[in-house]
Amino acid sequence: MLDIIKLLPDSVANQIAAGEVIQRPASAVKELMENALDAGATQIDLVVKDAGKSMIMVVDNGCGMSETDARLCFERHATSKISKAEDLFAIRTMGFRGEALASIAAIAQVELKTRRKEDEVGTKIINEGSVVKEQSLVPMQPGTTFTIKNLFFNVPARRNFLKSAQAEMRHIIEEFTRVTLMNPEIGFTLTSDGKEMYHLYPGNLKQRIMGLFGASYDEKLLHVHQEAERVCIDGYIVKAEYAKKTRGEQYFFVNRRFIKHAYLHHAIENAFMEMIPKDSFPGYFLNIEVDPADIDINIHPTKTEVNFLDVKLVYAILHAAVRKAIGQHNLSPMIDFDESADLNNDFSKAMGMSTPLAIPNVPLDPNFNPFRKENTPHESHREGGYQPQRHEPQGDWRLLYGERTDLPDEATMVAEEHKSSCHYLQVNQSYIVTTVKSGLLVVDQHLAHMRVLFEKYLKEMEGHSGVSQQELFPQALTLNANDASLLKEMMPELENLGFVLEQANPTTFMVNGTPSDAAGCDAIALLEKILDNSKINRTDLQLDRKLNLAKTMATQLSIKAQTKLSELEMQNIVDQLFACNVAEVAPNGKKTYVIVGVEELEGRF
Ligand code: ADP
Ligand code: MG
Repeated sequence: MLDIIKLLPDSVANQIAAGEVIQRPASAVKELMENALDAGATQIDLVVKDAGKSMIMVVDNGCGMSETDARLCFERHATSKISKAEDLFAIRTMGFRGEALASIAAIAQVELKTRRKEDEVGTKIINEGSVVKEQSLVPMQPGTTFTIKNLFFNVPARRNFLKSAQAEMRHIIEEFTRVTLMNPEIGFTLTSDGKEMYHLYPGNLKQRIMGLFGASYDEKLLHVHQEAERVCIDGYIVKAEYAKKTRGEQYFFVNRRFIKHAYLHHAIENAFMEMIPKDSFPGYFLNIEVDPADIDINIHPTKTEVNFLDVKLVYAILHAAVRKAIGQHNLSPMIDFDESADLNNDFSKAMGMSTPLAIPNVPLDPNFNPFRKENTPHESHREGGYQPQRHEPQGDWRLLYGERTDLPDEATMVAEEHKSSCHYLQVNQSYIVTTVKSGLLVVDQHLAHMRVLFEKYLKEMEGHSGVSQQELFPQALTLNANDASLLKEMMPELENLGFVLEQANPTTFMVNGTPSDAAGCDAIALLEKILDNSKINRTDLQLDRKLNLAKTMATQLSIKAQTKLSELEMQNIVDQLFACNVAEVAPNGKKTYVIVGVEELEGRF
């Protein structure tokens, strides 16, 4: 029997290996740009033709290569970046495997021009399908220019596999974005078929994001910064109100290298949970700086995956960092209320987000006489010069909309008279309807109130103590040892919220007072619910504990659907909702209101 095993020629081996590294023009773009970065360039220009299918050129002003290196760089495992196995654990460069150029040369026609500063002239090499076709000297500026022509010229199967020019161009732009984002101090351009698509000037990360995604990002971004012992997180998140319906601006980097990481993505999504609707995606541009020894990046040839030594720690820090950024910022709703409804004073005040969140109160004018029939404006009726509505609804609209018709006491009558001059209707005893400039505003009373209470409780826990109401007959809450210790842990927050608790013995607590919002509620049941929910969402992060608690309280104590509201109550809910930091979404992620636009209405007739 003959021996049948042969060693493949290098050119064939390279071609096979190339399939792993270079799947499409964008992969070559990434490798060439990363090499330019590793070479210390401060300006990198990318030029493509036909979405990279016919030409990709990367021009850099980096360190350049000697004549020998220029020949060697096309060899498999030729790299200047590591020389021994230990180096693998301290990698700071983008490349290190020494296979990108070997791969590209195996499947394309490559022209390399390179010159080091210390050399008089540069070297030009033409390599086609791993074969050096030409070598000469060229006059040139220091730096390196790689020109890749006819990618996959000798692998027709691959070439045919490429997508449309638009699709391939999208991939290129995506790679360009990933590389340029984390190198804002370096200038970049991208020119496609003779047209300059990006001109990115050196600057900081925020300026780079604006350069890539548009100047409007100036207002959309929140800075995130968190330093911990082994991890440092820095970057930007997109404010909740600008969250998009499509996944897109989600950029994670580890030591400035783009990665995909579902688990860490979850940390961010989770941090945004109460802020953005379920069908929207948070945007972020975040770099996680870690000691290279704490990660293993070498698990996939295209290197967008990474293993962390302690991924739970990174998760917790990332989550807390994003939370902090969201919490520190007052996100204001962008809603333009209808001035003709005479409500502009209230709303504009409510929208000047510096206004502290008010505890629900019923603004009444003590001098207002409900029996005075004339329809003249009452000055100083409300803070800010309230003007009652001049166009009273025709007919008995209160009956029509299910308003209360039993005989009210005087205070109620005052309130009724007052509110009858406003534009608030309740539909199905669940939705509050009013007009805004752009159309009809429909607010879900339960979800809106949940948001209002949620933010109120968060503030109270930060030390602006909640008002408590003393119990005439203190009740005893008896717990098992586990729950008792949990309750004890939560005691400071509960007390800030207005609970007055006293430990009678190791497992029994006396409830001497409850938050005033909880008047008429079963305090024991409420506390049990709080304990249950904090067990389900048990976490070591103090901030998350508070969020859980505020969420449970808000869910339990908010006005339910199918509850009749007075118009004043409706107005208070709407006012307070739009004084919230994040008015758009309830803590459970559901939308608090919708606007039915005038255009939509027009379309229906
Ligand atoms: P790696 O980047 O993993 O080292 P590559 O095949 O991408 O492998 O590149 C091989 C070597 O060629 C690099 O290690 C570097 O020394 C050299 N090189 C590649 N591109 C450039 C460049 N733009 N400027 C200077 N040197 C370069
Ligand atoms: Mg490389």
